[in-house]
Amino acid sequence: MELFIERCRQNGLKVTPQRMAIYKVLIESADHPSADSVYRKITEAYPTISFDTVNRTLLTFAQIGVIAMVESYSVARRFDSLTDRHHHLHCVKCGLITDFCDPSLDEVKVPEQIAKLFTVLGKRVVISGICPDCAKSA
Ligand SMILES: [Zn+2]
Ligand SMILES: [Zn+2]
Repeated sequence: MELFIERCRQNGLKVTPQRMAIYKVLIESADHPSADSVYRKITEAYPTISFDTVNRTLLTFAQIGVIAMVESYSVARRFDSLTDRHHHLHCVKCGLITDFCDPSLDEVKVPEQIAKLFTVLGKRVVISGICPDCAKSA
């Protein structure tokens, strides 16, 4: 939370109780929530907050780097409070995105012809498949 507050201040973003609450919801959701799911949780504490405010706040957070926007497999953007290097497991059935770390995957080499044309800012391995819950119900 301290780092979050510091980052906001550095970027001239006022740290309001609402913004802190939105960030807290994100930290507590390890499932890479969409703006809609953050909105549904935040209205428990702030019933009057609008979806638009939540959505805009999340985009601002992503811009200043306190959270990340991650690959999404539907129209809704998905957000991640974990900005350290990590990889994702993606369930193609329920859309669940879970984190995992693996140092050997961190070292994945970018092909030379891609590195020439494309300014690489990050690398992430996404393993898609079927999560244990979906496998059970199938
Ligand atoms: Zn699943
Ligand atoms: Zn993640």
